[in-house]
Amino acid sequence: MTDDVAIEIRDLEVTFDVERGESNVVRNVDLDVYREETLGIVGESGSGKSMVALSLLDAIPEPGGASGEVIYHPENGDPVSVLDLDPEALRRFRWEQIAMVFQGAMTSFNPVMSIREHFRETLQDHGYDVPAGMERGTGILEQLYLDPDRVFESYPHELSGGMRQRALIALSLILEPEVLILDEPTAALDLLMQRSIINLLREIQATFELTLVFITHDLPLLTKIADRMAVMYAFDFVEIAGTQELLHHSGHPYTRALLSTTPDLTTPPEEIQTIEGTKPDPVEYISGCSYHPRCPMADEQCRATEPGLMDVRANHEASCHYHADVPDEITIRNRPRGVIDE
Ligand code: SF4
Repeated sequence: MTDDVAIEIRDLEVTFDVERGESNVVRNVDLDVYREETLGIVGESGSGKSMVALSLLDAIPEPGGASGEVIYHPENGDPVSVLDLDPEALRRFRWEQIAMVFQGAMTSFNPVMSIREHFRETLQDHGYDVPAGMERGTGILEQLYLDPDRVFESYPHELSGGMRQRALIALSLILEPEVLILDEPTAALDLLMQRSIINLLREIQATFELTLVFITHDLPLLTKIADRMAVMYAFDFVEIAGTQELLHHSGHPYTRALLSTTPDLTTPPEEIQTIEGTKPDPVEYISGCSYHPRCPMADEQCRATEPGLMDVRANHEASCHYHADVPDEITIRNRPRGVIDE
């Protein structure tokens, strides 16, 4: 991992017009993604993390829209303002510069096309040399412990879930992007396959010198792969730090609640906790700190003034007025084994 920035996100907002009003699903987000790091974005479902990911490819579905700045800095070449690209430039940008893998590979593949046809079509559509690209594809499939001949000949439904997801990861790398975004890439897989894909991702990241952005609600899984973690709550980041720093010195009550409520395989069902209170509504505006309705430490200042991200320690930010007091005030219950105690 280097410390130069691959993607700069500034004042990012994503909104949808809905019957009840304007639904603000990403609010004034600022974030840097460093070259060749694995950045994990974690939060409850509906917190806005997938919308941030889609914004990196200017792929917010209609009728939504993204505003603000997403600047991509290729290793060689001029910066690209992603939200200003015209449709043709955007078509090339996706897959060639930044590629994305979603959960459920089945829906990402065309069921009537073989895997070979998917690879060929992607190379042709982007004007790449097809034989050279297919050879590269063979190598990537091998690197992902797949038999290229068998996989190329198969239709998506003929592969197991784990093989399909690996084939999709290989396809996403065929145009040699520098950044790979993975949105819940292992959610549909069993635990063993999840761990195996995580190990494979670490290997391909090193081989292809990739920058990875990994999005999930699964905090223990994220700790296995992320160099840094960004915790999202109520459509904005509330804490950003290196993974170990965040696990040991979290300065935001929401992060500590997430850690407390993360079960592992050994947690008996009766001990599984949930975070009290209701999730924020993207149509409603909450004054002050967005977490105050659920925070046990909330006071008048919290209800009146939005904290914004502030320095907690070196390379560690949290948006909490009382971040220095949080570790003493909010203990982490049931620290999940495999997350902290390794
Ligand atoms: S600013 Fe106040 S309400 Fe918000 S997380 Fe910190 S203590 Fe809780």
